[in-house]
Amino acid sequence: MYKHRKGTVSHRSMVRAGSTASGERGGLHSGITLLAAIAGGFFIGALLFAPGVGRDEKRNASYLPLTPYTKTASSEEPSMETAEPSPASGNEVYLSSPVITVSIEGTPTEMELEDYLIGVVAAEMPASSEHAALCAQAVAARTFTALHMADKAKCRSGCSVCDDPQCCQAFLSYSKLRERWGNDFDKNLERIRSAVGDTRGMVAVYNGELISALYHASSGPATESSEEVFAMALPYLVSVESCEGEHEMVTKQEFSAADVVSRINAAYPEANMTLPLAPLDLDIWGRTKSGRVQLIRIGETVIPGSDLRRVLGLKSTAFDVVKDGDTVTFTCLGYGHGVGMSQLGANEMAKKGSDYAEILKHFYTGTELARLKFDD
Ligand SMILES: [Zn+2]
Repeated sequence: MYKHRKGTVSHRSMVRAGSTASGERGGLHSGITLLAAIAGGFFIGALLFAPGVGRDEKRNASYLPLTPYTKTASSEEPSMETAEPSPASGNEVYLSSPVITVSIEGTPTEMELEDYLIGVVAAEMPASSEHAALCAQAVAARTFTALHMADKAKCRSGCSVCDDPQCCQAFLSYSKLRERWGNDFDKNLERIRSAVGDTRGMVAVYNGELISALYHASSGPATESSEEVFAMALPYLVSVESCEGEHEMVTKQEFSAADVVSRINAAYPEANMTLPLAPLDLDIWGRTKSGRVQLIRIGETVIPGSDLRRVLGLKSTAFDVVKDGDTVTFTCLGYGHGVGMSQLGANEMAKKGSDYAEILKHFYTGTELARLKFDD
């Protein structure tokens, strides 16, 4: 793994989305693994990259099974605003069982869907996020998971889902959460459980079908359309305003020119990049409507901005690049692939009074809420 020669992350506010909430890691949503594809009437494959948790953490901590969720009596959570949108048209989605098999550090582990979601939401967003934003995250994560449970998306592990954010979604057990949250464990867990509980069974659908509920940490001013990142247009994954305003995340990532040339030539030998960098090296050829780099020249070839993001580990494709002698500096806006729900944008909407249904409908165009039903 490369390391930035130098790198700074600045935030225009302390509001952050993703697993860096506790500041222990820099890995927010970094991209997408597997894409949604439509074949035979099914959406196949899905998502995304959740914040990187656990990748280089110690792997010897035991994962305790999550205890069954029991909704806390409302009298015990007086400060928690409860959002109670319901399916607009009585939509229901049927699955065979509420039990899911999750690959946790490679070990298949059975648990209730709603219990699993507590570990996902806790890993994916800061517990301090607005309640409605946590609710929206819970629905997005539940929808993602339901798509896998319905065999319309596949996990590399062979289980329905895994805890590798490069494949599925981040997940943290109670023992991991205790390590992360320390004395705030009870308070934070209650916030997460409340969000999962208040949205219990709710998923997002488009024309009655579960959606590929992509999400990311921060998109900057606007999200990205799915076809710009995954070469497949989905009607509910189109560019919309993200409402992040002054809180949007700006990251400067600095590399040596030699590092850039080395990495690019290793991934794209046809680029034949040499030092010193030529004037047209890293010349941006086009941007998408949302301002992300669509194509960029590298040596003797041109590649998509998303490919360069992957090669260099850039926070987003919404970047500007400055070459200054031996130094190349990328200034990235937002964090993640930019498709679907922006967690930071969701949090800002929640602050302004939107409930979770409004947040989801904003980021997933034309979708509705539906309720999961189980055959057994
Ligand atoms: Zn997986």
